Amino acid sequence: LEETILVVGGAGYIGSHMVKMLLGRGYGVTTLDNLSSGHRDAVLGGEFVLGDLADRALLDKLFRERKIGAVMHFASFIQVGESVQNPAKYYENNVVNTLNLLDAMVAHNVKRFIFSSSAAVYGNPIAVPIPEDHPKLPINPYGRTKWMVEQILEDYDRAYGLKSVSLRYFNAAGADPEGQLGERHEPETHLIPLILRAASGRAPDIKVFGRDYDTPDGTCIRDYVHIVDLCEAHLFAMERLMKGASSAAYNLGNGNGFSVAEVIATTERVTARKITVIDATRREGDPPRLVADASRARAELGWQPRFDRLDSIIEHAWAWECKSVTRLSEK
Ligand code: UDP
Repeated sequence: LEETILVVGGAGYIGSHMVKMLLGRGYGVTTLDNLSSGHRDAVLGGEFVLGDLADRALLDKLFRERKIGAVMHFASFIQVGESVQNPAKYYENNVVNTLNLLDAMVAHNVKRFIFSSSAAVYGNPIAVPIPEDHPKLPINPYGRTKWMVEQILEDYDRAYGLKSVSLRYFNAAGADPEGQLGERHEPETHLIPLILRAASGRAPDIKVFGRDYDTPDGTCIRDYVHIVDLCEAHLFAMERLMKGASSAAYNLGNGNGFSVAEVIATTERVTARKITVIDATRREGDPPRLVADASRARAELGWQPRFDRLDSIIEHAWAWECKSVTRLSEK
């Protein structure tokens, strides 16, 4: 039996880039996705299994019939606002279904797990850049689901020897530099793809959620990290577990913060398009400044972001947006 990496949620934005990278590095890949928000055609190779994490019988069959070397888990709901309105949906999928996956892993003696966590575990930061040992006081159900799973993972390591790496993403952005993959959320809520829709004409404008923050230009500062760099950190984390490393949690960010106004200005320059900007009120729950201290990932994983300039993040995402406009107009 050939060893394979199980990528749960491999049809989504981050998962699909991960599948491509794993295949490129010679790994066998099995993607499990229920296609609730992912796209079948974003899975560029390997084996594809349509199914849901709630289906324990399916998980048992998956683990029984394959030699799974590690599991990467990208299948979670990500909308903060929705998690406040409908917490049941978030606890059910992000916690209960993840537990189902972990229990199946333990039952089949698969003991390496890479988890998509989030800077949302920190809540409102008391110190920026944020180190991993910053207090975990998430301020919404989405962030709580991520922190709950991280705590479950600590207990599963202690009790069952399940080794895991939790990767706390700051703002994942950009697209496959070769133009095969990109962000396709519906509805889209993220800043960069929304600005690009305003630049391409798919949207009339971009709304800036607050200009009265305590930051140099009054708009919120975020740490945008290129999707390829993000995926590379997963690869390194998995390979480190394969060499016998202990469980860990790492921030994944550039350590560079960019304000909403800076992102808009950079996009206008990179795309050479004029973007209509509308000032709107603050969005609830947005801290003024979220920037990672990612020195632990650099030191322990040997991770070095290659696309740390905002320009390259936007260039790659813009190429994808232009493709999307063509694809949608041909429908
Ligand atoms: N933002 C904005 N207009 C939008 C979407 C986002 O001004 O249409 C702001 C948002 O308030 C935040 C930043 O852009 O300060 C990044 O938001 P995003 O939703 O992309 O990521 P988050 O930091 O919430 O994970």
